[in-house]
Amino acid sequence: MGKPTGFMEYTREAAPYRDPAARLGDWNEFVQLPVVGDLARQGARCMDCGVPFCHTGGLMANMASGCPVNNLIPEWNDLVYNDRWQDALDRLHETNNFPEFTGRVCPAPCEGACVLGITDPPVTIKNIEQAIVDRGFDEGWVVAGPPSERTGKTVAVVGSGPAGLACADQLNRAGHSVTVFERHDRVGGLLMYGIPNMKLEKTVVQRRVDLLAAEGVGFRVNTEIGSDVAAADLRNDHDAIVLCVGATRPRDLPVPGRDLSGVHFAMEFLHANTRSLLDSEHADGDYIDARDKNVIVIGGGDTGTDCIGTAMRQGCKNLVNFEIVPRPPDERAENNPWPQWPKVFRVDYGHAEAAAAFGDDPREFCIETLEFTGDSERGLTGLKTIDVDWGRPQENGPPFSRVEGSEREWEADLAFLALGFLGPEQLVGEQLGVETDPRSNFQADYGQFATSLEGVFSAGDCRRGQSLVVWAINEGRGAARECDRYLMGESRLP
Ligand SMILES: Cc1cc2nc3c(=O)[nH]c(=O)nc-3n(C[C@H](O)[C@H](O)[C@H](O)COP(=O)(O)OP(=O)(O)OC[C@H]3O[C@@H](n4cnc5c(N)ncnc54)[C@H](O)[C@@H]3O)c2cc1C
Ligand code: SF4
Repeated sequence: MGKPTGFMEYTREAAPYRDPAARLGDWNEFVQLPVVGDLARQGARCMDCGVPFCHTGGLMANMASGCPVNNLIPEWNDLVYNDRWQDALDRLHETNNFPEFTGRVCPAPCEGACVLGITDPPVTIKNIEQAIVDRGFDEGWVVAGPPSERTGKTVAVVGSGPAGLACADQLNRAGHSVTVFERHDRVGGLLMYGIPNMKLEKTVVQRRVDLLAAEGVGFRVNTEIGSDVAAADLRNDHDAIVLCVGATRPRDLPVPGRDLSGVHFAMEFLHANTRSLLDSEHADGDYIDARDKNVIVIGGGDTGTDCIGTAMRQGCKNLVNFEIVPRPPDERAENNPWPQWPKVFRVDYGHAEAAAAFGDDPREFCIETLEFTGDSERGLTGLKTIDVDWGRPQENGPPFSRVEGSEREWEADLAFLALGFLGPEQLVGEQLGVETDPRSNFQADYGQFATSLEGVFSAGDCRRGQSLVVWAINEGRGAARECDRYLMGESRLP
């Protein structure tokens, strides 16, 4: 333990975000990490508790509690406090293949379970994680380490999101020859084309992909398994397959006017924006442009927030965000005790940016969209909504009722649907004949990751449903271990 009295001496100081007015003028990351000395003080707040809940990741009330990759948090807090950053980096890499991703985008269930959080603001675990790995790259401590021996076994990983990359990294370390197949033109899955640049700069993703390639992982982009390469051929050509294709089928909103131009799924907006940014800094104009438009984002969560942040940077005229659920409380409710994930009202980066530009938080809670309205050219002009009351659940129906007389009309040129995802696209699964669970995910037990087909495994969002980057890394690692065991009879992978 670094400093026994640290938590009494120092207050929590989370890394600040750049000023909204300034950051709206570019696509660079908005978090500004504090200097090394300040972070060491934050590390000193860690109490090295007898039972450190922060690193015991699991599910509580259906949400992550503690770190899902079981990062050795108290150990690296102590190492940072004692200025042993390279040792901290080694400790971090023991459990997490890509701390530079989680240090930026993880919602930090570790902090929700930090024991200090019972009485005080928790340790700034996520900032410290990012600082350790960023310093590691800056100092040149993170270098390619290809395996010394190869086993002669070949594995195809389908999908290059965090699950596929973590799986490929682990299998490569075990000496197998791994090829990652990705249908898009760049590697990274939602790390590349879902989460926008201002939250996770794409140079950070590419830097890790380059390292994996230097260690011997093969990447084949623009290759969709199921169409460009038949799933059966993939199976014939490899000793094992790991499906990491994500949960990319978006939930629709089938109300009148859904077919009007101007109504888009969130991912159509986000993917095209990042691709155009990377290809040409938006010079090719090959993206949905919110400049000078009235924008309505339907749905919250990370996807909704990322649509807000993207539309704000493009220069939208106005922005409103609909959430059908009620506004969360400011403090934990009685039925949401520590160490559960705190379900409290948060102002994410996009909300703060819209508030800074337009004067108010953009969110409207307890509101349901009834209809999209358009002009004679079938272009979107507005939305009709009604308020809902969660205090009056319907028998055999939704857990809320519509409030009579609360209909409203909203002006809109663009509407983005951020309503969640319904499971994986079925192309590969159907060609292979993999069984699915009732939610249409590929059936494979957690911990085993084996599908109904011998030698075929699945991990990440396509197995567990849409989730988090940190869970995808956890599952990619687990599937690699089980795949290695299948290939070699035993495995030393963690
Ligand atoms: C907009 C958005 C923002 C998010 N923000 C956050 C966040 O801030 N923090 C967080 O923790 N989580 C966030 N998430 C969730 C997180 O990104 C996912 O849980 C995570 O990326 C899942 O990883 P994965 O590897 O399972 O799948 P994905 O990242 O979805 O990767 C799957 C890959 O498989 C490819 N693929 C699919 N089918 C085929 C095929 N047949 N052949 C070849 N390739 C194929 C896809 O093109 C894709 O690249 C966000 C999600 C979205 C949509
Ligand atoms: S990966 Fe997420 S939960 Fe784990 S230590 Fe990092 S921020 Fe916390």
